[in-house]
Amino acid sequence: MEKENLKIIHEKNLRNYLEKVGVFGFVKKGKAKCEFCNEMVTLENIYALFPYLRQVKFVCEKPTCIRQFSIYIRGKHYASK
Ligand SMILES: [Zn+2]
Repeated sequence: MEKENLKIIHEKNLRNYLEKVGVFGFVKKGKAKCEFCNEMVTLENIYALFPYLRQVKFVCEKPTCIRQFSIYIRGKHYASK
């Protein structure tokens, strides 16, 4: 995963993408947590994932988390494709 590129994944590609970056099992087992509200992120409520210090961070689809995520993106000058 390239550090500079933010990946916002559309639902139809989500499973493939999670497998590609090696976190599908992690999410499926309920081990992924939202970076902002700290609640469990599942295949049903995942909004986005993004790379941070070689880790993959997750964002759930709560409006408050999406909002914080967009602020975070701006702060970090990530580019969205
Ligand atoms: Zn959240």
